[in-house]
Amino acid sequence: MNKNKIIVIGGGYGGLRTVKKLAKNPQNEIILLDKNSYHFAQTEVYDLIANEEDFAQVSVDLFTFCSGFDGNVTFLKQYVNSVDFKNKKVITSIQRYSYDYLVIAVGARTRYLSNVIGLREYAYGVKALYRAMYFKQKFEMSLFNRVQESGTNCKPINIIVAGGGLSGVEIAAQMASFSKEFYRKNNFICRKLNIVLINAHEHVLFGLDKYLVKKTEKRLKKLEIVIKSNQKVVEITQSSVKLSSGKVLLMDFMIFAGGIEPNSLVHTLDLDKNERGYIVSNSHLQTQNYSNVFAIGDCTTIYDNGKVLAPTADIAEQMADVCVKNINRLIETKPLIAHKIKSRGILIALGRDYAVAKIFGFYFSGYFAYIMKKLVERVYEKSLDIQSGRGYKKIFCDEK
Ligand SMILES: Cc1cc2nc3c(=O)[nH]c(=O)nc-3n(C[C@H](O)[C@H](O)[C@H](O)COP(=O)(O)OP(=O)(O)OC[C@H]3O[C@@H](n4cnc5c(N)ncnc54)[C@H](O)[C@@H]3O)c2cc1C
Repeated sequence: MNKNKIIVIGGGYGGLRTVKKLAKNPQNEIILLDKNSYHFAQTEVYDLIANEEDFAQVSVDLFTFCSGFDGNVTFLKQYVNSVDFKNKKVITSIQRYSYDYLVIAVGARTRYLSNVIGLREYAYGVKALYRAMYFKQKFEMSLFNRVQESGTNCKPINIIVAGGGLSGVEIAAQMASFSKEFYRKNNFICRKLNIVLINAHEHVLFGLDKYLVKKTEKRLKKLEIVIKSNQKVVEITQSSVKLSSGKVLLMDFMIFAGGIEPNSLVHTLDLDKNERGYIVSNSHLQTQNYSNVFAIGDCTTIYDNGKVLAPTADIAEQMADVCVKNINRLIETKPLIAHKIKSRGILIALGRDYAVAKIFGFYFSGYFAYIMKKLVERVYEKSLDIQSGRGYKKIFCDEK
């Protein structure tokens, strides 16, 4: 019997879930392609930056992960340049690979606005692990420098976070909370850290429920984070940020969390895209153009009753489930199912021991929400760890 050749591009939240589910069928022969050798748990980047976790805790080795299956999954660390849909071939920097079914799960990238002078040069993004690592090191080094210089006249560290969305508020809150504790725990005299959050709207978390917005703003204020509302960044130099109001703020460094856009592969693919450049998929999550090609996660846009669902890991994973069911149905020549994806919840970490959440329509805040957030993260990590642990044992036979 012929095997089903399935290629998954992207080992992110959507891609890994797809691989895991497809691997259950021994008739499936799966290739996972990713430009990186690891999966990056972006939802935990706030802990990485604030030195609560190291890079190994927010990444999973894709070689060992894929080796943990029963021999029907191959991982290739290769950058995908394009896809020849007519001839069913994925073209990477090294080779061409044939497929029967293709899943595009390449996520999105930070949207570096071209009209903001100096943005690319002087701001740190957090969607790529290496960029987040640079920032983490810079943050720690700045804390150290201030301690080194400390005396009665120590200079403050000025950090700007541009973007009052989910990632911006989490990072700002975690840095503020971490540094407060860092100074207190170590009895340092020099404890000045100024964090300014630049937000293009009147309130943070644009588009989210009032409860989450109110609680988040209250918490940010408690952490002494200054929110500059209705402001945009227009120019950045090595040491300053100019806002749309004309005000210039001094800064030691800046994180840019001001939005995402489709990445360069999505731009090159000969598929229908929407006005923002994301791949258009139908209710079965197939691309409009090819029934054997699926698009899931942040590289596409999904709607619930006509309303765009915010791109999250939760949504990417739900899409993976539907996509796998429909690939199985295509193989078995059964009718496909339409997705009924909804946001199941949102958990926002706002510094140590505090989070706000909306889960299945119920609101939570404080320590309980924080524990829920940590629990979700741990369960996710654990399932990936078990899988890559299996692969590690297979590769190194007896070393664990
Ligand atoms: C700071 C931050 C905090 C967040 N917090 C939360 C949260 O609390 N909860 C939540 O649900 N969501 C959160 N998100 C959003 C969440 O991380 C994304 O929605 C999720 O990662 C999307 O999953 P994905 O599988 O579509 O893409 P990704 O996880 O981004 O994975 C895409 C993969 O494709 C690979 N790739 C891309 N291009 C190519 C190419 N040309 N060739 C080969 N490989 C390629 C990449 O290397 C990557 O591994 C957060 C995001 C950020 C940045």
